[in-house]
Amino acid sequence: MPVYEYRCEQCTHQFEATQSVHARPEDTVCPQCNKVGATRMLSAFASKVKGSHKPGFEEIRAYDMLNERMDRFSKLPPAMGKRVDVTPDMMSGAGAAAPPEGTDA
Ligand SMILES: [Zn+2]
Repeated sequence: MPVYEYRCEQCTHQFEATQSVHARPEDTVCPQCNKVGATRMLSAFASKVKGSHKPGFEEIRAYDMLNERMDRFSKLPPAMGKRVDVTPDMMSGAGAAAPPEGTDA
C-alpha cells in the first residue's frame, strides 16, 4: 500500500500514513490532535491542490465548453457541410481559450 503524507489543518502536524488507495483524506485522523480530515500532500501536485482548489473543476469547465461548441456546430447550416469530430485538440483548445474568471489562482 502507498504511503501518503498528510498535514493536519488543526495543529499543522505533518505525518505519514500507509493507506489503501481508496482511503479518503477526509477520513484520515491526525495522530497528534485526533482531528479528522487531514490534508493529503501529494508531492507532485502539492503546489496545485492547496488552498480552495476544487478537484475536477477545470475538467468540468472543459466539458461545458465542449458541449457549448458542439451545440453551435450542430446549428450550422448544412452548407457548412463538414461533420465535426471531437478531438483532444479541441479539448485543449477550449482550455486555452477559457476566460480567467472564476479561477482560484
Ligand atoms: Zn492535528
